[in-house]
Amino acid sequence: MILYTLRCAHDHHFEHWFDNSGDYDTKKAEGALVCPQCGDTVVEKAIMAPNVGKSSSTPAPAPACTPMGCGGCQFAGQH
Ligand SMILES: [Zn+2]
Repeated sequence: MILYTLRCAHDHHFEHWFDNSGDYDTKKAEGALVCPQCGDTVVEKAIMAPNVGKSSSTPAPAPACTPMGCGGCQFAGQH
């Protein structure tokens, strides 16, 4: 089952379940896709924003220097 977000000619958005991607074309050809808000049968798949999660690839924080000093760390001589 595929959930598509559909949009009618009046820019109403609604969701509809389909058995597969071809089921959308079949129902569309049959005029079985009806906007629940205005009854329009001229509907098309709405462009859905990709569901991209926040990137978890945050850069690792720079290693903290020890209280005894920073000799040997990558910042030696810079602070
Ligand atoms: Zn509509």
